[in-house]
Amino acid sequence: MIRIYIASKGDRAGLQRLFQAELPEAEVLIDAAELGPEPCPYIVVGRPDPGTIASVPGVEVVLSLNAGVEHLLASGEVPEAMPIVRMVDDGLAEGMSEWVLAEVLAWHRNILHYHRIQPEARWAPEREKLARERIVTVLGAGALGGPAAEHLARIGFRTRVWSRSGRAVPGATAYGAGQLEEAVTGADVLVNLLPLTADTRDLIDGALLGRMARGGLFVNGARGAHVVEADLVAALDAGQLSLAALDVFRTEPLPAEDPLWRHPKVLVSPHVAAPTHPGPAVAEMAANIRRHQNGEPMRNVVDRAAGY
Ligand code: NAP
Repeated sequence: MIRIYIASKGDRAGLQRLFQAELPEAEVLIDAAELGPEPCPYIVVGRPDPGTIASVPGVEVVLSLNAGVEHLLASGEVPEAMPIVRMVDDGLAEGMSEWVLAEVLAWHRNILHYHRIQPEARWAPEREKLARERIVTVLGAGALGGPAAEHLARIGFRTRVWSRSGRAVPGATAYGAGQLEEAVTGADVLVNLLPLTADTRDLIDGALLGRMARGGLFVNGARGAHVVEADLVAALDAGQLSLAALDVFRTEPLPAEDPLWRHPKVLVSPHVAAPTHPGPAVAEMAANIRRHQNGEPMRNVVDRAAGY
């Protein structure tokens, strides 16, 4: 008998129904009181309260509903030998690509600019550029950065993509570790889709933004702590950047008094770029449970040493 405990917040009953449909032979629990002393090898988590994982008997695998797992690693709640499977599914990748394209195209075609000056009833065409006249750099070539860069390249943007391994992305120029400056120099748009690790925290600072072409766009769909916020605001105020589209913040929800809410060159969205869609997410987790049951390697297991 496969036992799964859903410890996430939100619609646990909905996830339970989906798991039950995917794995009819499994016992799927959503109430800690039902756990008892019998081992429960699989726990599904979002951002669990301290002690949650340790309170479940016989956990073997932690299945994360989130793609980013830095909070689970930092919490110290998951023993070193216990695999953490992060969320990777087509729904997440599609959602992130849509969001990145929406932000980049709205800036590229001056849609946001025209909307801003509309109250002045000014007929003031800008020189409209073609995608091939713009350089876009995507930081991260993983499950989300790879497809986003591929879409951007397909539209015609001169696309660069930076990752640790210099991973190839169709249509884009790949840069590896040690080539960050080169990848960002002269970019009109910088898109951040890195995981948050010790190496990537505070990576996006004034010096890096200063390498971009003047008047560019910064898009952050990854984590707020990748960015030195004071440097970002300074780059916007100085005209080095013309716009920042931010979906993620150091503190979430973004506090009402945070000046980013009211900055005229900042677009705030409430961490919605790539929400986890329950259907594809449960299908992916169930497939990994089946692999684990069959003694096969699971997909998307977090590399503890790399931190993502
Ligand atoms: P992923 O598949 O693990 O890909 C990470 C990419 O970053 C890989 O290409 C990796 O290089 C590269 N990388 C990692 N550390 C690096 C370093 N030190 N220097 C250079 N490149 C480095 O992650 P993902 O699924 O694409 O997700 C990325 C992040 O998006 C998540 O961690 C999460 O923070 C964020 N996210 C946000 C939302 C939202 O709604 N806003 C939703 C989901 C996820 P290699 O290819 O060489 O390994």
